[in-house]
Amino acid sequence: MNADFSQGCAFQRGEYVPIAQASIPMTDWGFLRSDATYDVVTVWDGAFFRLDVHLDRFFASCARFRLDPGRSRAEVATILAECVRRSGLRRSYVEMIVTRGQPPWGSRDPRQAVNQFYAFAVPFVWIANEEQRRRGLHVAISDVQRIPPASVDPTAKNYHWNDLTMGLLGALDAGADTVLLRDARDNVVEGPGFNVFALSGRRLVTPREGVLQGVTRRTVIEIARAAGYEVQERDLPIAELLLADEAFITSSGGGVMPVTRVNGQAIAAGLPGRITGELAATYWELHKLPQYSTPVAY
Ligand code: PLP
Repeated sequence: MNADFSQGCAFQRGEYVPIAQASIPMTDWGFLRSDATYDVVTVWDGAFFRLDVHLDRFFASCARFRLDPGRSRAEVATILAECVRRSGLRRSYVEMIVTRGQPPWGSRDPRQAVNQFYAFAVPFVWIANEEQRRRGLHVAISDVQRIPPASVDPTAKNYHWNDLTMGLLGALDAGADTVLLRDARDNVVEGPGFNVFALSGRRLVTPREGVLQGVTRRTVIEIARAAGYEVQERDLPIAELLLADEAFITSSGGGVMPVTRVNGQAIAAGLPGRITGELAATYWELHKLPQYSTPVAY
C-alpha cells in the first residue's frame, strides 16, 4: 500500500514519512532540554513565500545556538520542497528543525552530541480563526514576562515557550483570544508566534528588543515604508498600545491580523483598522510576485 502523505509529510533520519509516523528519539536533547532551533516558512498557492529570508534566519539561528544542520542551504530547500511535494498541499506550514541530538550515554557535554535535522510540511496553520480575523483579535497582556534576551536570544528561533504558553493559558482563561507578553519595563514584546504593531496617525511602532525579527514583521515594515508611513522599531509601552488608532499582529501563520481589544478595552472604535486592512491586502498581493516566491514542482 502506498503511504498516505495527504495530512503532511516529515523528513526524519534520512527518510520521508507520513506526518503521523514522524518521531524523534526520546533521549534527543531537543526534547529533553528544548535544545533546538527551527524556522517556519509557508507555501501559499503552490509557492514558498520569501524562502530565502527564512533560510537566512534559520542558518543564523543555528550558528547562534551552535547547532549544525549538517546540510547546505540548497539541500535544506530541496528537503522542504520534497515534503510539500509529497503532501500535495498547495497551502502549507513548513517547519525545519535542528535538535542537539544526544551525546554519548552518560556525557553531559553538548559538544559531543550529534545534531539532527528534521523537517515537515502540514496544512497551513492560522494564528487566528476566520471569525477572529474578521472582528479583530481580543488580546490580553499577561503579567508573565518574556524570557529576557540576555537569557535566551529571541532573535534565534527557539522552543523556550513556557512563558508564552503560561501567558496564553491565562489569557484564554480570562476569555481573550490570545496573549501578548511584556518585558520588565512594561513594554509589550511579542506573543505565541507573532509580533505586534501599533499605529498612531501615520506612525507605526513595533518592538525592537526582546522579539523574534519576524519575516512578516519585516515584510510589513517594507510595505509601510514604501507607502510613506513612518516606522519606528523601539520600545512599545503598554499604555501606548492601548491608545493606538489601530493595532495588529503579524505572523507567517496568517499575515497581518487586526487587534480590536486589549485587556478588555477597545482599540479606538473597537473595529479592525482601515490601514491594517490595506497592509494585509498588500501582504497577500506580494505572494504573487516572482521575487518573493519559489514555486513547488508538485
Ligand atoms: N515571534 C515568535 C515568538 C514566533 O514564534 C514567531 C513565528 O512563528 C513570530 C514572532 C513571527 O515571525 P514570522 O513573521 O517570521 O512568522
